[in-house]
Amino acid sequence: MDYLLGILNQTTFGQLVLFGLMVNFTIYGCSLGLYMFLTKISVSRRIGEEQPVLRSDVLLSLITVICNTLVFILGVMLWKTGFIVLNENRLWFQVLFEVLILTLIMDFLMYVFHRSVHFLRYFRKVHERHHEHESTNLLSLFVLHPVESIGFGLMMLGVITLFPFSAVGISLYLVLNSLWGTVGHLNHSVLPQSWLKIAQKGYLCTSEFHYLHHQNPDCNFGFYTSVWDVVFKTIHPSLRTHP
Ligand SMILES: [Zn+2]
Ligand SMILES: [Zn+2]
Repeated sequence: MDYLLGILNQTTFGQLVLFGLMVNFTIYGCSLGLYMFLTKISVSRRIGEEQPVLRSDVLLSLITVICNTLVFILGVMLWKTGFIVLNENRLWFQVLFEVLILTLIMDFLMYVFHRSVHFLRYFRKVHERHHEHESTNLLSLFVLHPVESIGFGLMMLGVITLFPFSAVGISLYLVLNSLWGTVGHLNHSVLPQSWLKIAQKGYLCTSEFHYLHHQNPDCNFGFYTSVWDVVFKTIHPSLRTHP
């Protein structure tokens, strides 16, 4: 990672834009590939109808990749100018702890952001496009208003500006985020029933959890965990297994 950071530190703005596009289109491609793979494996069970893929979905998903690239460029520039400080002297278990902490902080912030875009009148318009998908398809994760994509990116940059995470920890968190978002928007269930129950008892968001949010937008606002939905009583009635 030190080698990569050294190269990034010496890139021109044009090279940084190209690198950012390459990284973000790779994430996009991997997400689409994983989605197609998971819907075709033998254990995969359909949860609901397939949301048709529209040309406007393809266009908006590409705009989201551009927005994510802009956030990436801003992040690297904040690092180059010293506003973001990276701590590269972490041991492997400290890196895993960083990923856990970053995920938990972002889980709370994303719950607040997501619930706000549903209930504040101006923001509701921003989130409406995502909810045109009453079911989900392989592009749903990327069918977002630019304000949402940039908003998520700025929240994350805000957190890593306040605390010195390592580049490896941030990268692993972003991989986890893409993985979770892709699985969350599957309209197929890939976990055996017994695993699904364990995931639900462990407050983890599953494909079924977020699918219910697309069907019933007044509940299930969590992204990684259902903890805040349980605390604030916004969890779907069918999932209220906790006291
Ligand atoms: Zn969604
Ligand atoms: Zn929503």
